[in-house]
Amino acid sequence: MKNLIITIVFLSLISCKSEAQQDENSDFKIQKTEEEWKAELTSKEFEVLRKAGTERPFSSPLNDISEPGTFVCAACGNELYRTKHKFKSGTGWPSFDRAIDGSLALSSDKKLGYERSEALCGDCGGHLGHIFNDGPEETTGKRHCINGVALDFIPEKQ
Ligand code: FE
Repeated sequence: MKNLIITIVFLSLISCKSEAQQDENSDFKIQKTEEEWKAELTSKEFEVLRKAGTERPFSSPLNDISEPGTFVCAACGNELYRTKHKFKSGTGWPSFDRAIDGSLALSSDKKLGYERSEALCGDCGGHLGHIFNDGPEETTGKRHCINGVALDFIPEKQ
C-alpha cells in the first residue's frame, strides 16, 4: 500500500513537471536560458518577465504616460501597446483596452485558484500581466493589466 502511494505521488510529480515545461517552452522565436535573461534584465524585470511576478501597484512611472507612443517589451523590444489604447483603470498598473494585433501570446493562469487570461510577449514569452473582462464598455470591454516594469516606452517622433 505504501509503495502504491509513493508510486502515485511520484507519477503525479512527473506529470506536473512535464506540463509546466510544455507551457514554458512554447514556440517563441526568441529563446534564451534563464542565465542569459538574468544577465540582460534588471532583477525587477527578471522577476516579472521570467518569473511571472507582479510589481507593486502605483510603482511604475509608465502609469502617468499619456503622450503618444508605443510600449515595447522590456526584454526583447517587441511592440505591444499604444498610448491611444491606454486608459485610467485606477488599479495602479498601466492598463490598455487592447494590444497591437498579433503581438501577444495568451496563456491561462490558475495560480490564484481561478482562471485568469495571462498576457505574454508573443516574441520572447515574457510575462506581462493579465487580461480581464471589466475594461471600458464603450470600446473593447477588456482590461489588459500590465506590469510597467515589463514595458519600455518609445515616444512618437514629432
Ligand atoms: Fe518580449
